[in-house]
Amino acid sequence: MPHTSYNPPRPEAVSFARLAGAALGTMCGDALGMPVEGWSAAAIAQAHGRLERMLPGRLPAGHYTDDSQMMVAILESLAAKGRLQPDHLAQRFLARFEPKRGYGGRIFGVMRRIAEGQPWDQVGTDSFGNGGAMRVGVVGAFFADDDQAIGRAALDQCRITHHHPQGLAGAAAMALAVGLAARLGAAGRPHQGAGMVEYLVDMVRPLDEHSASRLARLAALRLDRPGDLRRALTAEFACDVTAAESVPPAIGAFLGSRSAAEAIVLAVSLGGDTDTIGAMAGALAGAYWGVDTLPSSWLEALENQETGRDYVLGLCRRALAAKSTLTKSHWPDTSSGFVQRAASSTGRATDS
Ligand SMILES: [Mg+2]
Repeated sequence: MPHTSYNPPRPEAVSFARLAGAALGTMCGDALGMPVEGWSAAAIAQAHGRLERMLPGRLPAGHYTDDSQMMVAILESLAAKGRLQPDHLAQRFLARFEPKRGYGGRIFGVMRRIAEGQPWDQVGTDSFGNGGAMRVGVVGAFFADDDQAIGRAALDQCRITHHHPQGLAGAAAMALAVGLAARLGAAGRPHQGAGMVEYLVDMVRPLDEHSASRLARLAALRLDRPGDLRRALTAEFACDVTAAESVPPAIGAFLGSRSAAEAIVLAVSLGGDTDTIGAMAGALAGAYWGVDTLPSSWLEALENQETGRDYVLGLCRRALAAKSTLTKSHWPDTSSGFVQRAASSTGRATDS
């Protein structure tokens, strides 16, 4: 990716409200889309009209699928390490793996190779699916003040399972979009007309030209007309399990909406890989508007057992605390003489 930053570092963009928003936004979109995964937009509209309630599907109502389960593993690893350490994360993916959550077929081989002890960067496949993007929103919110850090962490976590350029580009685009959403939200700036599409296209193009050109199609759509946007997004994008055809419509649903609930409902209504497109739009919306804006009826309906809603909120707190501790431990200790020695070697005062 280019070594340019859309914005200078903004520490205030990293907060519990935005990280928890990305995490629970992912879970809400995942659970709302779960019962209609694989359906067409027309079939969803015919059966449910506007689907805005948590319904049972192959899992009970409010339960999440593989998307959120792998996100939980990412948060656990961030909470343990304070940063994204891919060998540790690969072990968390394995520890959390429950086939009933609905994983893609090739993930079983990945998990077997992790269990066999193969290195994290040699267990993945050349899949161009959206598995690296579906779970990565929390990475964007966790590193929201530093888009180079977002890019590195997004690619590392993706490579554990997906190393096709389109899979990597989708993961990077999604994480960078969430980071920018958190910065815009923290600054109180509108999300529409903020140049998000142009920024993502510029950042993603060095990774994969095709993914960048698919993202660029968003710029041609009228994002200010929610009624027309569902038709426009489904006409433009396949909304399937590929990263190149599912990340852009999720971003489009966010950019075309005025609330977190509207974004998630619109994303799920697109059909296709509904749980994942809902999860990605939910991460963006939660990071931008904050966790408190997610509908309370959805949060109450989310599963809340061992690794459910409250556990995830606790992980968000622990991850931010671990990051803060790690950051402080890397600052030079002014009492040790490090700063004085460095300053004297350059002839500058230490307190300027
Ligand atoms: Mg899923």
